Amino acid sequence: MSDETTKTTFSFQTEVGQLLDIVASSLYSNREVFLRELVSNASDACDKRRYAALTNATLGDGADELAIMLEIDLKAKTLSVSDNGIGMNYDDLLETLGTIAKSGTGAFIEAVKSEEQDQVGLIGQFGVGFYSAFMVAERVDVLTRKAGEDKSWLWSSDGKGEFSIEPVERETAGTTVLLYMKKDAKEFLKDARVRHIIRTYSEHIGFPVKLGEETLNSASAIWTRPSKEITKEQYTEFYHAASHAFDEPWHVMHNQVEGAVNHTTLLFVPSAAAFDLFDAERKSHVKLYVNRVFISDTTKDLIPAYLRFLRGIVDSQDLSLNVSREMLQTDPTLAKIRMSITKKVLTELKKKANKVPEEYAAFWTNFGAVLKEGLVEDSALRDRILEICRFASTASGEMTSLSDYVSRCKDGQDAIYYIAGDDAEKVAKSPHLEGFKAKGVEVLLLSDHVDEFWLQHVTEFEGKSFRSITRGSADLDKIGSEEETDTVKDDKETEALSALIASIKLELGDVVKDVRPSKRLTDSPVCLIADEGDIDVNLERLLKRHGQLQQGMPRVLELNPNHQIINRLAERAKSDGAESDDLLKDAAHLLLDQARIVEGEDPLEPTEFVRRFGAVMAKAL
Ligand code: ADP
Ligand code: MG
Repeated sequence: MSDETTKTTFSFQTEVGQLLDIVASSLYSNREVFLRELVSNASDACDKRRYAALTNATLGDGADELAIMLEIDLKAKTLSVSDNGIGMNYDDLLETLGTIAKSGTGAFIEAVKSEEQDQVGLIGQFGVGFYSAFMVAERVDVLTRKAGEDKSWLWSSDGKGEFSIEPVERETAGTTVLLYMKKDAKEFLKDARVRHIIRTYSEHIGFPVKLGEETLNSASAIWTRPSKEITKEQYTEFYHAASHAFDEPWHVMHNQVEGAVNHTTLLFVPSAAAFDLFDAERKSHVKLYVNRVFISDTTKDLIPAYLRFLRGIVDSQDLSLNVSREMLQTDPTLAKIRMSITKKVLTELKKKANKVPEEYAAFWTNFGAVLKEGLVEDSALRDRILEICRFASTASGEMTSLSDYVSRCKDGQDAIYYIAGDDAEKVAKSPHLEGFKAKGVEVLLLSDHVDEFWLQHVTEFEGKSFRSITRGSADLDKIGSEEETDTVKDDKETEALSALIASIKLELGDVVKDVRPSKRLTDSPVCLIADEGDIDVNLERLLKRHGQLQQGMPRVLELNPNHQIINRLAERAKSDGAESDDLLKDAAHLLLDQARIVEGEDPLEPTEFVRRFGAVMAKAL
């Protein structure tokens, strides 16, 4: 542990160092947003202090009016942002202003390194928070004292790899962020410029922002006002200021609900997916207020995990201010609010899906995979979620709903067919689709990880069961019976095919579960499927990758009885001396490897594969 009585210098965590390099060197045209970031942090700190004072009145001492103060010193060329909020102690400073807790940071830095041309856009999307101060300042001092503690600290850095912390004098709790402006950032020392920035970005945060005697913003909680009085720009400004967001909202939902539980929600669906959307640690980005007092932005169970892309606020006067955050989480009132919000959001999404399908498709690309988690998590609302799900399909390049799929079903088709894999392009080219395409039977192409999981829970839609085309027999015969596509085979051909199947089985042994003629192939000679009752091909792949399954099940190898290679091999298999025909033996392995390769697997024994391939080619030449 370092000495807390003198000045100590520390290195930034590696990621922060990299981030600061990016921030300092980028020509971010929008660098005025540093002020929004600092004001937003000051506002968060005021929120936290007000909440702390609820449970411990002494923490509110000396902070009758929580506010954010700006000060410009033209001589010293500094701009300061002060608040009388919660403040930081030594450990807070070390932890929060030396490291970066924000998830997705690594991914962000990688992205910036690899796509230099669009750094600006990336910074805008990611949001660098406090560190954005270094876009305009050559040095940043933070003077702070935590409410309820008696020591004050000075954190200081020039943003070049190191920062220092030392004890200082400070009379009251709160924080002052003092910016020593860079030469090219003098514009931010002008009253008019500062005033304009605050009006643009921080008009609707809940605390007054003052420049001298003048209050620059309206400091009213925007959600308490009637929605028809609020402009789109005002909503966007609030979204940016209060939700740590940087994109345009895709959809705004502002509702004052009166009934069993009164509550107001102002929720935003972003237009861009956050870096950490699939991070297991991701916190909720919806803040909970009780009667305009901020309670927490990490309230579990306020929003279901499958709606975690939402941002915004929920405010209810029907929750008790005097219970702890922990108790609040188990409050049945909260569960009611959650249910009401969830239903409302699903209804709104359905409206969007019906009215503006192209816009909805953009939403779906960003958040569809998240929403589908609800099919597993929320069985009560499963049908409503299914209604708004969209899927790629063989029918067209567009996404389809399940109802539309069902409306296109052929006579005699009692299943919704799908194929799942982790690569959308590969899935769309899978040989398993051939027979279905030939018959004009639509197949859904699923390539999100979560697909395998909801398919374990959802068994049917509008009376049709979900059926994987990579498992079990392809019951294509009874579909669309008017067109007879099966070519009738004579006895001789059937006999030859049986001989080939027997010879392949003998040669491959336990490596395959069975060898069968296929109904699902038209162009490819072979494919692998999971036997009825076995784990499906893609699920097995996923389980293996996550170490939940060591050994896969042997697959069934299907042969296309109409393929030239199969027919030639069948003839050989039937003729005399077939038992000692090396080519037949090599072909058995090559067929299996071929089926594996199209699925993205390696040949079973690569060196043998090469030898056999060579041997068969030599014979052909
Ligand atoms: P974020 O606001 O998304 O958490 P920031 O980089 O903006 O990220 O801030 C990092 C952290 O530093 C904050 O979460 C907070 O703990 C602390 N912090 C920054 N400014 C203040 C302030 N004025 N008062 C108290 N804590 C602050
Ligand atoms: Mg912040």
